[in-house]
Amino acid sequence: MVDLSVAVSVFFAGGDSVDKPAVRKGECRLRSLQAALKRRAEKSDNIAMALLPILCFPDPRLHTVAKPVAEVNDQIRQFAADMIETMYDAKGVGLAATQVDFHQRLVVMDTSEDRDSPIVLINPELLWMSNERVKGEEGCLSVPGIYDGVERAAQVKVQALDEHGQSRIIEAEGLMAVCIQHEMDHLMGKVFVEYLSPLKRMRIKGKLLKAQREAERA
Ligand SMILES: [Zn+2]
Repeated sequence: MVDLSVAVSVFFAGGDSVDKPAVRKGECRLRSLQAALKRRAEKSDNIAMALLPILCFPDPRLHTVAKPVAEVNDQIRQFAADMIETMYDAKGVGLAATQVDFHQRLVVMDTSEDRDSPIVLINPELLWMSNERVKGEEGCLSVPGIYDGVERAAQVKVQALDEHGQSRIIEAEGLMAVCIQHEMDHLMGKVFVEYLSPLKRMRIKGKLLKAQREAERA
């Protein structure tokens, strides 16, 4: 049995808590230029990276089905680098291209404890999933402040291209297995709240729309 309570604390390391009442003002908007410049100044290399705006549920664009990446080129590598930067800035462990309004099969993740081992999955395909299932609390950068239980396969095997276009097979369990399934759902236009009851989903939708309206007014 995988302990997903650990996963959740890693998922949202950085101060978010389960009973957090409201969406932070402008949380889904483009992160501030100041934060971008700060992180850029911390970089030892000269690769310019940009923070990307994250779409917020119930934005209909989150339900777009992504197309395969046709070629792993410099443009895709730069976009993946921007996604990694955005994921770290937002304190997430995974980000799908769908969430930043780019509808190609591209995912970035870092489930390492030290947050120093990002991986890029391009055109990921699920080869196998275990019959064993686990239920853990999940959250999503596109559904800020909301956490709920979702049942997933405990282990998965996935084939994907890396940022160099090399094919690799990843066998994952625990947080990484959950993260892969969560992010691959995004590429199919599915947000984790769709696993919850219609009533819960409606409440979440109302809460987030209210928070977004308040953020716009402020
Ligand atoms: Zn998500």
